[in-house]
Amino acid sequence: MKVLIVGAGIAGLSMARLLEKQENINYTIIEKKASMSTLGAGIALPFNALRALKTIGVFDAVMAQAHQVKEILYTKSNGKILGQANLTSAPFENDHFVALQRSELQGILAAGLEDNIHYSTELTSVNNQAKGVSVESSNAQVTGDYDLVIAADGINSTIRTLQYSATPTLYNHNLTGWRFIVKAPNHQLQPTYMLGNTDIFMAYPLNEDELYCYAHIHQENKFHKLTGDAKTDIKHIFSSYAEPAKSIIEAIDDQEIITGELKSVTEARFYKDRIVFVGDAANACSPLLQQGAAAAFEDVIALAKTLKDGGINLEQYKTARKSRIDWIINFSDKPLASVKKMDKAIVRFIRNTVIRILGPMNVFGWKKLATNPDLANKD
Ligand SMILES: Cc1cc2nc3c(=O)[nH]c(=O)nc-3n(C[C@H](O)[C@H](O)[C@H](O)COP(=O)(O)OP(=O)(O)OC[C@H]3O[C@@H](n4cnc5c(N)ncnc54)[C@H](O)[C@@H]3O)c2cc1C
Repeated sequence: MKVLIVGAGIAGLSMARLLEKQENINYTIIEKKASMSTLGAGIALPFNALRALKTIGVFDAVMAQAHQVKEILYTKSNGKILGQANLTSAPFENDHFVALQRSELQGILAAGLEDNIHYSTELTSVNNQAKGVSVESSNAQVTGDYDLVIAADGINSTIRTLQYSATPTLYNHNLTGWRFIVKAPNHQLQPTYMLGNTDIFMAYPLNEDELYCYAHIHQENKFHKLTGDAKTDIKHIFSSYAEPAKSIIEAIDDQEIITGELKSVTEARFYKDRIVFVGDAANACSPLLQQGAAAAFEDVIALAKTLKDGGINLEQYKTARKSRIDWIINFSDKPLASVKKMDKAIVRFIRNTVIRILGPMNVFGWKKLATNPDLANKD
């Protein structure tokens, strides 16, 4: 079976690692960038990402570089605790929750595959038919016919956009977000989410002395006119926050900050004829549950399983993933529809009361993913 993987990100590299083990599959992987360089910042991996990494074969390598966390804390912007959850008790007593630099994760996934990746390579035409896909590429080695094309080309997937050209496949949450890493010697923090009005601030330890931070605000908030300069905007919005945000904000001057808008797919896409979607190309959604990498890992494991017997049964892949993915997207994106209303005291009161009762929302969601049999992959 001749397979083309488009995109050497988290999903594409994990897919390649699994296909390496399948003798009946001859795969090629292409990447539009010139090298493995990744945008900085960190990545948090919850329990199911680590479980999947065991199957992908790089669990030990990730654990050797990652920082393990033990609890999650949600506070108000003034530091008052709203909810707290332990990550070492049932149903997670045998699990791990970690964070590491994105470049480290990508490096681990790419190790040993570098010679198989065609960099600076994109497709110039894609002819998708019931029995196979003919592609043309700027790189003559890639041009040809494939039994299967795996679209792992991320949230802005060109392949998804071309295959579903009649309708938009992404929508915008109108949230401007920032990601960065700060030095915070001996911070002694566990992951802390501080909730303001339409703004939130997260600090997630990467090691004893560094924090991965994420912050966002609704673009139509009443109190802050965004200037477009990340550092100015972050200082303006978050300098009134209590610790730990306060000290972190004071230390951002030398940091590289990644600014972006939060977007999600309009619906999960699994396959069309002989093109199959994995990772963000299939199911990008808000990072509330930090399921981006986990979903990519689980997608490629499910897909590799369906390819194992030599057949191409993409409906089986869709059946395996659909209910779990639809639930993840809904859980991750639904609260974002109310963010704009958070500048009203009554709406914040409702949000805070829900968190006081249920605990941190991401932990609530992770528990459902871990224990609800209806949300398991359908093997
Ligand atoms: C603000 C924010 C915070 C997040 N935090 C977390 C987190 O803490 N934990 C988590 O698990 N997830 C998180 N995510 C989600 C996570 O980043 C993604 O789910 C994950 O990167 C998806 O991996 P992927 O391989 O599908 O896509 P990507 O990582 O985007 O990789 C796609 C690859 O395809 C390449 N490519 C694109 N187009 C083409 C083309 N036409 N031809 C060839 N190559 C192409 C790209 O260059 C890239 O290398 C976050 C997302 C956001 C926006």
